[in-house]
Parts: sequence; C-alpha cells; structure tokens
Amino acid sequence: VVQVRGASKSFGAHQVLHEVDLDVARGTVTVVLGPSGSGKSTLLRAVNHLEKLDAGYVRVDGELVGVRVAHGRLHELSERAILRQRARIGFVFQGFNLFPHLSVLGNVVEAPVAALGRDKAEVHAEARALLARVGLADKADAYPRQLSGGQQQRVAIARALALRPQLILFDEPTSALDPELVGEVLAVIKDLAAAGATMIIVTHEIGFAREVADTVVFLDAGRVVEQGPPDEVLDHPQHPRTAAFLSRVR
Ligand code: ATP
Ligand code: MG
Repeated sequence: VVQVRGASKSFGAHQVLHEVDLDVARGTVTVVLGPSGSGKSTLLRAVNHLEKLDAGYVRVDGELVGVRVAHGRLHELSERAILRQRARIGFVFQGFNLFPHLSVLGNVVEAPVAALGRDKAEVHAEARALLARVGLADKADAYPRQLSGGQQQRVAIARALALRPQLILFDEPTSALDPELVGEVLAVIKDLAAAGATMIIVTHEIGFAREVADTVVFLDAGRVVEQGPPDEVLDHPQHPRTAAFLSRVR
C-alpha cells in the first residue's frame, strides 16, 4: 500500500530525513521506533503530505502523494486533490485534537459528511457502530471535555476510521495518556490489526510493538538504521544504535 523512496527533508540547514525507504504491505502493521528528533513524525507527516519532501516520493496505493508527473517533471497537486488523498489516510496524533464544541458523535461524522459529502443518515449509523467498536457506544452524546484521555483518544480513532481509510497513521497515540489509560487505547489498535487494517504506528511501547508489528523500523538521525520482524529488531538488533535505544526505553 505504501512505498516511500529516497525521502529526504531538511528544515533550514538541518536534514531531518536522509533518503528513507519504507514499504508497507496491505494488511500489515509497521511500528516506527527511534529517539526523540530522529524524524519519526516528519516521516508520518510526509506520508500524509502534511510535510513536503525535498527529494524522493511517497506512493499510497500506487498514487504519488502530493505530486503528479507531467512532461517528465514533478508538479504539485492542487489543494483539493491533496485533501482527497488525505481523506483516504487516517491520522491519530498524540494530542487527540477533537473539536471541543462538537459531541462525540459530531466529531466522528464531521469529516465524512463535510469533506466527502456522504449521506448523513448512513454516516451517523456507521459512526455509532464505530463508537461501539472502540467501546464508547454510551458516550455518543457526551462532549470531549467530559471524557478521560483514553476515551478521547478512542474517539479520535473512531473519527479516523469513519473515513474508511486504506491506511492509518498513529503518532505516539498513547504518550499523552496516564499509564492506566494506555492499555485501553492499545487494545483498540490491536483489534484493528487483527481485523486486517494497514497501519504505521510511532510508539515507544515496546511490548505492544512486539505483539502487533509485522515490521519494526528503527530510525536514527533521519536514517533507517534497521528494519525487520520484531523478533529480529527487538530481540536481536544488529546495529549498536538500535541496541542502545532499546536498552534505554525498556
Ligand atoms: P519525537 O520522538 O520527539 O516526537 P520525532 O522523531 O518525531 O521526535 P520529528 O518531529 O520528526 O522527530 O523532528 C525531527 C527534527 O526536525 C527535530 O530536530 C525537530 O526539531 C525538527 N523539526 C520538525 N519539524 C520542524 C519544523 N516545522 N521546523 C523546523 N524544524 C523542525
Ligand atoms: Mg514525533
């Protein structure tokens, strides 16, 4: 589903991504690990074209993200075409970014109705089913401020799913949560994995990575240092930087 090739990105003189290659097959889970500042968020944001690459490209479902090729050159897509691409990719952030003035149900139905123009009754029915799936059937009419952090993050996941995304990106979905709320959010993500969702997850939860990941990617200073199945990368890291990182977060 996802192909990243030669992705490079600098902010001023600081090169944050160095020719990153990444492949994510349909129905698989990729966990991205790496120290603070290693470029994990920038990489996810590039997949969603929230960050424009200086070199390289990202394809999602075969389609170039953010650009098209014409007359042998790259041209930026229109804002509208970029929004259309983005609507097929779910994104769940560290902070839940729910709309405070909308109910839980309102948050989930907003994008499919407003951005995709889908039928309101159909979207509402689907949203209630999604809220049940994340264990919040009884909170549809509550407002975000009335929910715990874990509940808010599960609403954010339901909201991402409401777009029927072909790919879901998670950027440290549990790092803003109190420890006792982490498990309920990870359980929802595990259910999605079991149901065959394609996901890229940035997290420091190593135990969770071992359970859920098909591939673990270790990023350091903007380079992919190591990638492979969790039992290789997490239990038998080949690179000293991977080993050093793991000994710090475990
Ligand atoms: P963390 O684990 O702390 O979330 P990260 O691996 O997600 O880190 P990024 O957020 O991708 O790291 O940032 C990589 C580097 O790029 C950092 O040094 C950061 O300061 C820098 N950076 C990110 N966004 C910008 C920006 N918009 N302008 C300037 N520098 C930026
Ligand atoms: Mg980050």
